[in-house]
Amino acid sequence: MAQTNVAKAKKTASASSGKTQWVYRFGAGKAEGRADMRNLLGGKGANLAEMSSLGLPVPPGFTITTEVCTYYYTNGQSYPAGLEQDVEAALATVEETVGARFGDDANPLLVSVRSGARVSMPGMMDTVLNLGLNDSTVEGLARHSGDARFAYDSYRRFIQMFGNVVLGVDHHHFEEILELEKEERGLSLDTELTPEALQKVIAAYKAKVQAETGKPFPQDPKAQLWAAIGAVFGSWQTQRAITYRRLHSIPEDWGTAVNVQAMVFGNMGEDCATGVAFTRNPSNGENAFYGEYLVNAQGEDVVAGIRTPQHLTVAGKKANRSSLPAMEEVMPKLFAELDQVRHKLEAHYRDMQDIEFTVQRGKLYMLQTRSGKRTAAAALKIAVDMVKEGVIDRDEAIRRIDPASLDQLLHPMLDPKAPRKVIARGLPASPGAAGGHAVFTADEAEDRASKGEKVILVRTETSPEDIHGMHAAVGILTTRGGMTSHAAVVARGMGRPCVSGAGDLRIDAHARTMKVRDVLVRDGDLITIDGGTGEVMLGEVPTIQPELSGDFATLMGWADALRKLKVRTNAETPLDARTARRFGAEGIGLCRTEHMFFDGNRIVAMREMILADDEAGRRKALARILPMQRADFVELFQIMKGLPVTIRLLDPPLHEFLPHTDAEMAEVAAAAGIELDTVRHRAAMMKEANPMLGHRGCRLGITFPEIYEMQARAIFEAAAQVKKESGETAEPEIMIPLVALPKELEVLKEMVDRVAAEVAKASGVATTYSVGTMIELPRAALLAGEIAKAAEFFSFGTNDLTQTTYGLSRDDAARFLQAYERKGLLPQDPFVTLDPQGVGELVRIASERGRKTRPNLKLGICGEHGGDPASIRFCAEVGLDYVSCSPYRVPIARLAAAQAALSGATTRDV
Ligand code: ADP
Ligand code: MG
Ligand code: MG
Repeated sequence: MAQTNVAKAKKTASASSGKTQWVYRFGAGKAEGRADMRNLLGGKGANLAEMSSLGLPVPPGFTITTEVCTYYYTNGQSYPAGLEQDVEAALATVEETVGARFGDDANPLLVSVRSGARVSMPGMMDTVLNLGLNDSTVEGLARHSGDARFAYDSYRRFIQMFGNVVLGVDHHHFEEILELEKEERGLSLDTELTPEALQKVIAAYKAKVQAETGKPFPQDPKAQLWAAIGAVFGSWQTQRAITYRRLHSIPEDWGTAVNVQAMVFGNMGEDCATGVAFTRNPSNGENAFYGEYLVNAQGEDVVAGIRTPQHLTVAGKKANRSSLPAMEEVMPKLFAELDQVRHKLEAHYRDMQDIEFTVQRGKLYMLQTRSGKRTAAAALKIAVDMVKEGVIDRDEAIRRIDPASLDQLLHPMLDPKAPRKVIARGLPASPGAAGGHAVFTADEAEDRASKGEKVILVRTETSPEDIHGMHAAVGILTTRGGMTSHAAVVARGMGRPCVSGAGDLRIDAHARTMKVRDVLVRDGDLITIDGGTGEVMLGEVPTIQPELSGDFATLMGWADALRKLKVRTNAETPLDARTARRFGAEGIGLCRTEHMFFDGNRIVAMREMILADDEAGRRKALARILPMQRADFVELFQIMKGLPVTIRLLDPPLHEFLPHTDAEMAEVAAAAGIELDTVRHRAAMMKEANPMLGHRGCRLGITFPEIYEMQARAIFEAAAQVKKESGETAEPEIMIPLVALPKELEVLKEMVDRVAAEVAKASGVATTYSVGTMIELPRAALLAGEIAKAAEFFSFGTNDLTQTTYGLSRDDAARFLQAYERKGLLPQDPFVTLDPQGVGELVRIASERGRKTRPNLKLGICGEHGGDPASIRFCAEVGLDYVSCSPYRVPIARLAAAQAALSGATTRDV
């Protein structure tokens, strides 16, 4: 393992200025560590130190630093010189504070050994409690406490935990022995076992350990301690921990700390207890103490599910319809004290805390505090409340919300109270929950939806021909494909819930059924998907609508006041445009016009146009499309009420519109009045080897100018119509895609200007408009200075720009990008987060060169990256004017833009 720089620096320092401090003590109102030392002490250790210094009742102990872990692994699993003495000395301090001695037969000190990395990490060693007990100290504990049952219970717990966690003896061996003993005596609770029964259990436990490990249970407390410390460090390299680190990008060289702490006992009788709590409600954020406890219990009994835990507060007890008494009722004084600790911790950490405590014979002890995990809804409420309470300021509130988490709040969710039957799981490809009738083809989806039915489109995978069906469906389910599959990307763009790659489902396209184990779903059967979790459920599970007012609106308002980047949306349908406005979009940054060609009978006219053999034939077909396009734009302009609308002229390879089936070919042949064979032949002629780099984008406009001309006309006529009918001023920004040569843009801009003048003359309305281009080819980025002579704006089409910069097809990348990420070759998927070095450098170059030619050149981004917080930050740094993203990401972008502004990224003032 590579050594950390910190460790190296420390070592060098220690050579000159004395010794590295490997052990930090805490307790008795003092501590050598602090909360901000979590890198060195781990989260648990740093906060134990902090609570100690705050004067809270923390049992004394010490933390062995993460640097010891690093040392351990760089030095053949050995400890640094002097560690043993340091631990001895720290242990002596604990003995003195507690007034008991480790391994003492008369009054033994017992300790817990707890792991603790910088971030809480499942996979690390479980805590060992009651360490220091053996056959003779247990007698001392019994005598000193005057409670033999407690002493033997503690010993049997210790053997069980140490046996399992340190010696690797499986849990069930111990549980079997315990169950057997209870059964024989007709008991149901562990606490009912008599001292004699517990002694029997202990003997059986020890025999089991001997049988399983071939060695007797260790009796020497010092040996127990070092074995437990070694087990904590050892757990850093278990497969579970390694996997977890890889999945969460936690560096291996962080290491874990070990906390050794004097035991306090919640299992000494009815005036003892142990519990866990949140200083506010972690699911809804309500400012109410929220937690559970158990009388006469130890450690994780509360969460282990052996006994039913009781609520801390009367309110909590009522809300959960519990009949068991609350701590507030049973131990009112201790509860009041705990409530004070709660306020003290919140005031100090200025955030909601997750705490663990134990009551020993009527005295409260604090065992842990950390910032509490919470739902997105709770995070919002807590942040806004804390501003109102004067605990944090608005900037801090904005910093605390993870923009991506807002997604959870914007989509319909499953009613948490509703029962559900999960039949399969896939990837959470696009958030939101939806239920409807399963359909297996896009056409059927459209058919049934037009009759007012809610449908879920179920496909093995989707392709561009399924778009109309995806649009008609309330949700999309695929059995193949990942998070960046066609289905996933398109569904996210449309704001449709989607579960992709649910591989357990077998679709029979012929029979129109899908099967998983013994469950058969037929065409039309009701199913529900949750695109936030990836779950597929049988039947329709009720959903609830998100709440966009209240705290959400408040926080968004603060974000808007801060951010400098504008946020627009990618939208082409009225529904998307309206949704985006509701979410606060300040215009449309990308209206893709190709979707407008797929609908209903337009596709036939479009195919007729493509397959016509001369300009006259094309114009005839286009004339039929013109009024429909115009109507689309009229509606969009009306919804956007004078906000900018960037319309991209036709972009995709023509072959995407070609007829495939015989029926489709016949339909076109009939409409165009040509032979079926001619249609077939011409369609075959148009096949391209590499369509994404083929006849598409402005190349269409250059070869078939009448297409772009029709579109420009539709736009200007729509603007004129809206002006006349409602007085609203539409400001279209006409965007020419896939420009590589400055000349391409010049030629097409001339055409647009000509059409604008013609429409102005004919309608009597002169529309203010601008013409610009997408920068999506490296050549365009490099020649931005030239291109800006004709372009009034640039919009970075970073999906294509990433593909063309990397020479990497997004549709084919999933297969190998995962391996790249696993091997650490790529820190992130470049289609999700903009590559700041390569693609980003082109964005930077194009921005600079473009603005050199035209200082007021408007700059925006409209790729998927426009909704990704890290990419948005980059856009702010480069100085773009706006980002454009799918409607459901608009709030995320608004918040991310505010965070970018807070972090010092600036955009120029225009
Ligand atoms: P985790 O990281 O899984 O939360 P902890 O180290 O917090 O593990 O230990 C789990 C539980 O063990 C604590 O919540 C507490 O109830 C109990 N525990 C740990 N140390 C002590 C101690 N010194 N005295 C009493 N109980 C302890
Ligand atoms: Mg645990
Ligand atoms: Mg804990």
